[in-house]
Amino acid sequence: MSITVCKFGGSSVSDAGMFVRVNRIIRSDPNRRYIVLSAPGKRCPSDDKITDLLIRAHAADCDGDHSILARIFERYASIRDALAPDFDLEGEFAQLRANLGRSLDYVASRGEYLCAKLFAAYTHLPFVDAAQLLFFDGDGRIDVATTARAARDKLLPLGRAVVPGFYGATRDGRIRTFSRGGSDVSGALLAAALGATLYENWTDVDGLYTADPKLVAHPARNFTVSLSQMERICAAGARLLHPDALSPLHGTHIDTLLKNTFAPGAPGTCVSENCTGIVRCVTGRRGLYMLGDAAAASGGKNDVLLHALPLQGSVRVATVNAFGLTDPQIRLVEATIHPIHMIHMQDHIQIIVPEREYEDTVRAVHRILLEAGSEGG
Ligand code: ASP
Repeated sequence: MSITVCKFGGSSVSDAGMFVRVNRIIRSDPNRRYIVLSAPGKRCPSDDKITDLLIRAHAADCDGDHSILARIFERYASIRDALAPDFDLEGEFAQLRANLGRSLDYVASRGEYLCAKLFAAYTHLPFVDAAQLLFFDGDGRIDVATTARAARDKLLPLGRAVVPGFYGATRDGRIRTFSRGGSDVSGALLAAALGATLYENWTDVDGLYTADPKLVAHPARNFTVSLSQMERICAAGARLLHPDALSPLHGTHIDTLLKNTFAPGAPGTCVSENCTGIVRCVTGRRGLYMLGDAAAASGGKNDVLLHALPLQGSVRVATVNAFGLTDPQIRLVEATIHPIHMIHMQDHIQIIVPEREYEDTVRAVHRILLEAGSEGG
């Protein structure tokens, strides 16, 4: 029996139309047995993610303000009314309202809980609460052995199931969430626990490009990438997967396929332990700060200190990480960009530039990366 664990992100379940689309995708392949869902995300750029609304509703509860909860109810009600009219959404919200003062983790987790429960009602698939499957130890780390046992015992006999992402429970039964975007981790943990053949991660992009398509016109697609390079790409700032998502898959030989819910026929990108070599790509991160002293000293090529938090007297910088550059290309980058600092890492270079130069630097490095011709991934 082949098992594919499919995780769908927030934009894939943002409204009733997307629920229909996801159902079509999972029905089109009988191996797609275990479905992990995020909470509904934005329907358009100006919209709110349900998780953000829940976090605000938790804070607003202290002031007795239930208007945000009413907005959240409306989002789910529009899906319920269209697809699962018998689902007791009023009962679920009465419970949520009564528990809004409970821990932030509990309240934030309700986005995934309600989404998965509603999707299960619509598709007539079994719903299994993540609090029965994913367990955290006393240090806040996943208890892998207990999780694997629970997942196998509870999910395998069902053959198929829908599971909320993003949270699990502590040994004493309290709900605990991962950091934001953590449904990716839930999906990978379940894929590893169930000995899945494949972990599909469905979002709203076609896979790993040579650069963010929002910044660079016509980037090329990478069809395969090694698991360890993908981890470094995500740690370097690419927001394709949660940075911890792939760690449960080390040593399992389970491939991860990045797929687009809006273009299910596109091949996607396969992240595999069997893949060798470095694929070409540029990614990065803004909103970093370099200590004033280090900025002044950077002419002397001293090590720079980067912080993710604002510091007094600090300089706002960005990092651009380029993988797969050849030595002549690296020299060309040095001659073209004049970065504040450039660090040579094992398989990529990290270029530190003033934040205002981030986008231009990404485009310039990407141009150099692709101009070399067609060698590389
Ligand atoms: N809904 C959560 C978030 O917005 C978790 C997830 O989507 O994976 O971060």
